[in-house]
Amino acid sequence: MKVTELFGSNVFTDDVMKNALPKEVYKSLRKTIDEGQPLDSSIAGAVANAMKDWAVSKGATHYTHWFQPLTNLTAEKHDSFIEPSGDKVIMQLTGKNLIVGEPDASSFPSGGTRETSAARGYTAWDPTSPAFVKEGTLYIPTVFVSYTGETLDKKAPLLKSMTALDTQAKRLLKLFGIDCRKVSTTVGPEQEYFLIDESVYEQRKDLMLTGRTLFGAAPSRGQELEDHYFGVLKTRISEFMRDLDETLWTYGIFAKTKHNEVAPAQHELAPVFTTTNVAVDDNQLTMELMKKVAQKHHMVCLLHEKPFEGVNGSGKHNNWSLSTDTGLNLLDPGENPEKNTRFLLILACVIAAVDRYQGILRASVASAGNDHRLGANEAPPAIISVYLGDQLGAIVDSIVLGREYVPKKAVPGSIGVPESPIFPIDTTDRNRTSPFAFTGNKFEFRMLGSQASVADPNIVLNTIVAETFSEAVDVLSGAEDFEIACTEYTNKLLKDHFRIIFNYNGYGPEWEPEAERRGLLNNKTTADAVPEYFKRENIDVFVKQGVYTEKEVIARANISLENYIKAINIEALTMLEMARQDIYPSVNGYIAELCSVIASKQTVSSKIRCEADIALAEKLSTMNEAMMDAMKKLETDLSEMPAAIGPASQKMAHVVVPDMEAVRALADSMEKLTSSDYWPYPSYTDMLYSIR
Ligand code: ADP
Ligand code: MG
Repeated sequence: MKVTELFGSNVFTDDVMKNALPKEVYKSLRKTIDEGQPLDSSIAGAVANAMKDWAVSKGATHYTHWFQPLTNLTAEKHDSFIEPSGDKVIMQLTGKNLIVGEPDASSFPSGGTRETSAARGYTAWDPTSPAFVKEGTLYIPTVFVSYTGETLDKKAPLLKSMTALDTQAKRLLKLFGIDCRKVSTTVGPEQEYFLIDESVYEQRKDLMLTGRTLFGAAPSRGQELEDHYFGVLKTRISEFMRDLDETLWTYGIFAKTKHNEVAPAQHELAPVFTTTNVAVDDNQLTMELMKKVAQKHHMVCLLHEKPFEGVNGSGKHNNWSLSTDTGLNLLDPGENPEKNTRFLLILACVIAAVDRYQGILRASVASAGNDHRLGANEAPPAIISVYLGDQLGAIVDSIVLGREYVPKKAVPGSIGVPESPIFPIDTTDRNRTSPFAFTGNKFEFRMLGSQASVADPNIVLNTIVAETFSEAVDVLSGAEDFEIACTEYTNKLLKDHFRIIFNYNGYGPEWEPEAERRGLLNNKTTADAVPEYFKRENIDVFVKQGVYTEKEVIARANISLENYIKAINIEALTMLEMARQDIYPSVNGYIAELCSVIASKQTVSSKIRCEADIALAEKLSTMNEAMMDAMKKLETDLSEMPAAIGPASQKMAHVVVPDMEAVRALADSMEKLTSSDYWPYPSYTDMLYSIR
């Protein structure tokens, strides 16, 4: 099948909808999708029927309300379309079935918003994200709320944050004489992942239970040759990628770019950007399908942020912008940004939002997995800062520091080879070390973890920018001379929030002390980052913008900390099990072999040397005992956990994690000294080079 025909073939697309629905019904539904008008429930029956007919024609027998509980994963419960009719069945999907579902909510995290006795939860159709058929089931994207109306998922607040931004952006644009029906945020998330052969995966309990290796000595060859990034794709990998692309295309996902990443066995996929809500759904589906397609190719796709120590981990880059329904990108600086008052005001509002709410922006990407990356010289540091690039940096410097601004035009460049074409050179270079970088006509938030939902950071981003937009409108709407007032306000914002701008190397050792001097936050662990959500001004911004109630903010922060505690607890228990059941006995086995070698050498002749054997046996036995001591400490610390979430998460971050590092250090050193015949697990080399 041609790609153009393949694309979206599993999706209830606009075209399909238009053909299948009566004109009036279609028009009414479009109004809901395009303008956020409430859904006219009288049309639900017709839409449901058309959806069902289409799904059945695609081989579907079931439907599911697909939702995103607070777990980073999606959830689904399948019901068949069958409805008894005499002794036969008919295939049916009613309007009510489409609009609302009632899954039991009691087994999903609620962070205390719901009593355990009150299990009721509702899923409600989200018509702004298209339905699709997958493996014989019609998937209906939905939001998930409790009986008492608290949101229990990531989609509801995301949609609310998009509405908040839409409302405030339209107010702001009005000041500039621009009328539009909708302002949407757009996101293109670049997704990193690892692929390893299933045979090595199956021998690693840590990968299976925690998604990352808890042990493993560094391989002789890591990423130092810098030959994997953009390297030639191995055949198995390119077959996987092709299969993945084709699969994603059938679901209407704009898979665009694919390449090898920095670490061995690491790769990346980037889609073309789309509306945030759809981008989030697509990314969830992409992660799920990456795993499934890998399985078909006898490989395992690892989405954890840090599957392997010592080589780069995986993240996501959240490319974010906002544009009107008329196609105007509000982050497009235009030809002369220094004179573009609208752009400068919007830019200043984003900068102000990121500075003021840096705590929750950082908290929105906090997880046990991501703690291994942020600040570890491969991902941006745990400090939030904004990179503007040469051109905008110089404009802002001129405003704040009074430096002269000399416009730098995009000049035609040449590669120096006469035959090669002349091409326009960008006005700014890339900066890979910044957590929040302006990249031409969008901001790229680079702190996201690879397995996390992209919803959380976008909820925060939309909310805080809606807030600074609304404040700007409040100040400027009564101004006598709008142009002057606008410039003054923009300049004030830039001056007040200048500290967040950092155009240099974020990986350099100078940055941490410099950031501290500037008063920027540097929360290195989830336990330290998440409590930012509890601060008054941070709760207030969510409440004011109608994204969360106070109770919901607190619940979500608690869930984040609980998830962190649970993740580390599972890792620690897995580690103890592996060390006790596999590593300790294996090393002892090798020591026993060394001893018998020593004994037999000594019985044959006193001239056969065995000093090295003795030294090795002694060294290993000392280290093995020391590992047992380190495990004892870990076990004791785990057994004395404070009951309250805050202190428990602190103890995990600052006691248990270092305990685990101590156990690992000893085990990894022993791995290097132990015969591979005895070592119980595939090595890093076996795993990172498992695909030929
Ligand atoms: P790179 O980061 O490698 O320079 P690009 O600039 O082409 O790559 O884009 C990276 C990602 O940013 C892609 O997913 C792309 O679709 C997305 N992107 C481009 N423009 C926008 C936009 N206006 N809003 C959101 N995402 C965008
Ligand atoms: Mg990028």
